[in-house]
Amino acid sequence: MKLHLCYYGNPILRKKTAPVAEITDEIRQLVRDMEETMKAHNGIGLAACQVGHAVAVCIILAPHEDTEEGWAKAPTRVFINPKLSDPSLETWTYNEGCLSIPKVRGLVTRPMSITVTAQNLDGTICTERLTGWPARICMHENDHLNGVLFIDRISDREQRLVEPLLKQIKKEFNKLM
Ligand code: ZN
Repeated sequence: MKLHLCYYGNPILRKKTAPVAEITDEIRQLVRDMEETMKAHNGIGLAACQVGHAVAVCIILAPHEDTEEGWAKAPTRVFINPKLSDPSLETWTYNEGCLSIPKVRGLVTRPMSITVTAQNLDGTICTERLTGWPARICMHENDHLNGVLFIDRISDREQRLVEPLLKQIKKEFNKLM
């Protein structure tokens, strides 16, 4: 089932999410719904708080290569209670966006590689080194789990530029709240 997205201005996006104590059927269903929601919006990653659940679960698309075909075939990876460590000194900058902050983009510099330790849907704890896109998306989603948004990581100048758009999103997308 496709879930409703939470948009900038919704307080859930600023909360630190709670760790998942047990991987229940409810969590498994949440992950399936998150995947459907991410794909319906052509997203490449999604955190549970973006669909109204303040728990430490995120999913990412992990392409083997940065080509159209690579992205089309990219498997969805699930990270439960992720912990990031050992960021590489090498960084790269990309004009990031976020499903919760429509139309806003900004240059974010992140490490090229990162180590992630997380549980998968079976509850197994796995540690692996991510590089390039999977690393960037994982860091963006892990930020969400800590109440951090990519706009917190852009330059002051860019922040001033996107401020009017942010105000508009707050007004337009949160009318029903
Ligand atoms: Zn996001």
